[in-house]
Amino acid sequence: MYHPKCQRDIDLSDKFMPSRVMKLDATSGVLRIRLVESLPKPEPYATLSYCWGGDQELKTMRDTIESFKVDMPVHELPATIRDAAEVALQLNIPNIFVDAFCIIQDDPNDMAHQLAQMPTIYSESMVTIAGSRAKSFDQGFLHEREPLPQFFERGEVYQLPFCSPTGEIGSAILLPIHLDSVTEPLEDRAWALQERLLSPRIIDYATHQTFWHCWCVNDVRDGWLEAGFMGRNFQAQVPSLFQKPIKSLAPPKERSPASISSSSLHESELGEILNSWNTVVRIYSARKLSFPADKLPAIAAAAARFAIVLDDQYRCGLWKSYLQYQILWYTDCKDEEQLCSRTAYKAPSWSWAAIDGPVMIEWVSWHSYFTFCLEILECEVRLASDLLPYGAVESGFITAKGRIKPAMLGRRHDFGKKGAQWFLENTTREGHIIESIADVHIDALEPNLQGTWIESIRVTLLEVLTEMESHQPVGLILCEVKPETFRRIGMFNCALGRYIQFSQTDQEKERNRIRVEEGKRLFHDSDRKTLKII
Ligand SMILES: [Zn+2]
Repeated sequence: MYHPKCQRDIDLSDKFMPSRVMKLDATSGVLRIRLVESLPKPEPYATLSYCWGGDQELKTMRDTIESFKVDMPVHELPATIRDAAEVALQLNIPNIFVDAFCIIQDDPNDMAHQLAQMPTIYSESMVTIAGSRAKSFDQGFLHEREPLPQFFERGEVYQLPFCSPTGEIGSAILLPIHLDSVTEPLEDRAWALQERLLSPRIIDYATHQTFWHCWCVNDVRDGWLEAGFMGRNFQAQVPSLFQKPIKSLAPPKERSPASISSSSLHESELGEILNSWNTVVRIYSARKLSFPADKLPAIAAAAARFAIVLDDQYRCGLWKSYLQYQILWYTDCKDEEQLCSRTAYKAPSWSWAAIDGPVMIEWVSWHSYFTFCLEILECEVRLASDLLPYGAVESGFITAKGRIKPAMLGRRHDFGKKGAQWFLENTTREGHIIESIADVHIDALEPNLQGTWIESIRVTLLEVLTEMESHQPVGLILCEVKPETFRRIGMFNCALGRYIQFSQTDQEKERNRIRVEEGKRLFHDSDRKTLKII
């Protein structure tokens, strides 16, 4: 099959190579592996994506690197890494990049240099070998696959004779339409997402099947095909622009916050890319990290790629030109019990990277239904390392001008759901208290929001957008930390029109109509103010 999109150039002369790879040599009949740091000319290499599943004892450290350059103890290598070397050898690829061995694990400088190279390391690889079904480095993934016992036990499997094109008689096996879907151990790991996203070609060793993913074909696998299956190929879901070679795209320039239409990209392409980023954030934020502090570093390589395509400045998981709507990310939790508490500092409160749980950023087509009310004047971050512009940050702030309004954030037990529900209440001009003027999404269980009984707390609402037709505002819930300096604690949305639609009784209808009217008038008496959000 011809693979025009994912094909690697045959000419390797100006090709990128990682600064350190594991060199595989089986010419003597016995596999020998050593670390090499500079090859006279670029050679093809494979990359490995796998679960560490704990600390690997054997890895490259400052005191082991010299001996690994001579010879690595092949038999002591963890099973997952030995399996990856075996696959690369079978494919005639003489080198493999494995993080635990190609990055000096106790050398922060080398770590920063290698992490900065990550986008290119994975995107220039011949193939990424994904050990998806191995929970840890010592499990391996080339062992025999387990059959699907549940179908055989239930007698839901049918074996029929099948005549192959060569005339051989084999069998075809019919399985039920709905297979219990398996979440592979690797699909749960935050670091693995960008490795998958950046790799043009992947051989994916999953629990029950082996998959081929690339930018040309959506779904190639051994074994069965599920009916109505949308494909697990994330590569096929990224826009075609993202697949251009990294060198053909100019690096991002400094640019003042601009409206969406001023970008050099066509608006539909831009929408597609921003929407892809929103998808990346949604998938990534739901995955697990061993170290919460890796929140920004573990998606940095993907961000670096997006920065080039978007030609934009990155700000802790958000894009500078689109902050006007991207700061309205919200936690994707069904009820309070799923909310995470805030752990160590990872990002400023206005960034989704500040919290541990799954988040959503809505699609940019909001643009045509909403009026942007908030003016972002400044957005700066202090990086932990200048080598990693998409990595960890020490601090950051946004200065913005918009309408603010004091309100009370309350919490009541809702017996239909787990935990409690949050609501905003507002005192009308006539002095009435109106409850639940908006849908409320709280970011995290802050210390002052925990406990079984909490008094309503004083918050500040900041208007970010209004719905064009109904004038219903959407914005942020802030807490004042010092005069004119705030922290984000949540997001609110006053677009409650649907409640009127679904109201049962006239009384309910009237109550909801008042709530909606109050929502619309929320910022009517407010002046525009400049404030800082940290
Ligand atoms: Zn292909």
